[in-house]
Amino acid sequence: MARYTGSVCRFCRREATKLFLKGDRCHTDKCAVERRNYAPGQHGQGRIKVSNYGVQLREKQKLKRTYGLLEGQFRSTFDKADRMRGVTGENLLVLLERRLDSVVYRLGFATSRNEARQLVRHNHFLVNGHKVNIPSYQVRTGDVVELREKSKQVVRINEALDGVMRRGVPSWLELDRAACKGSLKALPVREELTTPEFQEKLVVELYSK
Ligand code: SF4
Repeated sequence: MARYTGSVCRFCRREATKLFLKGDRCHTDKCAVERRNYAPGQHGQGRIKVSNYGVQLREKQKLKRTYGLLEGQFRSTFDKADRMRGVTGENLLVLLERRLDSVVYRLGFATSRNEARQLVRHNHFLVNGHKVNIPSYQVRTGDVVELREKSKQVVRINEALDGVMRRGVPSWLELDRAACKGSLKALPVREELTTPEFQEKLVVELYSK
């Protein structure tokens, strides 16, 4: 599968906002947005007039890059959201949040979604007692995501969990730190999805052209 191997901090600088793609570094003053808050590249500090289309495109890129998806994966998630009942933009955000790699990240087993994806791929998790190694797996309400027994000693995961114990997990999730497991209590509602800030309506407008 195609994979971006360049600096992810460029994405944040392009969108002029923190997308939290690099774990703990994002919370320090080493963050590239803190140090160089202008777009990357030779003309990054120039004045650019952005069209309506440009604004919509940037919002789509922001969302896509936050969740670490390629265009095809993102588009098929959007199409699925469009076929669902309710507001397409909100459905899209919920589908993205229900991805197993995103749930693993939000529960604090990893410090970034990228790291979470790698942990899922490397068979560190069980969902409802069954091994699942597909990052796009859609977690449902009531599902229990837990670390496999042999993974409970992994230092990196334990450090990440200690970090989330200080920060707390989102309201739609529940973490049992001692048992190294968590569950999806309920689907998140739009008001709960605030980090980073998205204007999902712009994505819907872009894809509706
Ligand atoms: Fe890099 Fe994280 Fe800062 Fe983004 S938020 S620029 S990924 S350190």
